[in-house]
Amino acid sequence: MKSIAIFPGSFDPITLGHQDIVNRALTIFDCIIIGLAPSIKKRPFLSIKDRISLINKIYIKNSNIKIIKINELIIDFAKKNCVNFLIRGIRNNIDLIYEQELNQINYTLSNNIETIFFLAKPKYQIISSTLIKEILLHKGNIKLFVDQRIILMLKDIIKNNKLI
Ligand code: ADP
Repeated sequence: MKSIAIFPGSFDPITLGHQDIVNRALTIFDCIIIGLAPSIKKRPFLSIKDRISLINKIYIKNSNIKIIKINELIIDFAKKNCVNFLIRGIRNNIDLIYEQELNQINYTLSNNIETIFFLAKPKYQIISSTLIKEILLHKGNIKLFVDQRIILMLKDIIKNNKLI
């Protein structure tokens, strides 16, 4: 049986930190679904469509990576789509506490889906989508945090949408 894992998040935008988790997860799972889940606690910066286009540009040649917008509880999506694992990344203590709570809730909702945690490598620990938004807003350089292949596209999206 193929092992399918979902990596849910806002990816607003996707960062090198997220990509490192995807790459490492690919050594374990047959297929990774990058699940774009709208977050109620964060105000969106990019539209879901733009976020998906950015992720698609990076993974266009990877047939074992799928990018899907999720409109329901991740755990419900997982149950319906034979997804057995959930992937999450942990950068620091704040992530750990949040992820512990999330894990307990998910486990209460379904104990068939196991969450696998990846500790961020030191060089990715400081990278967050929020930080990238801040740098972009102040027209700073994001090349250490975001994949080279999407920098121009990201800047174009921001210019055309007049986000700045
Ligand atoms: P959220 O799910 O809180 O909206 P994100 O979309 O930014 O957060 O991230 C999705 C997942 O990726 C979360 O598990 C988060 O901890 C993890 N993550 C985010 N940035 C990094 C990073 N730089 N290194 C490792 N994991 C990360």
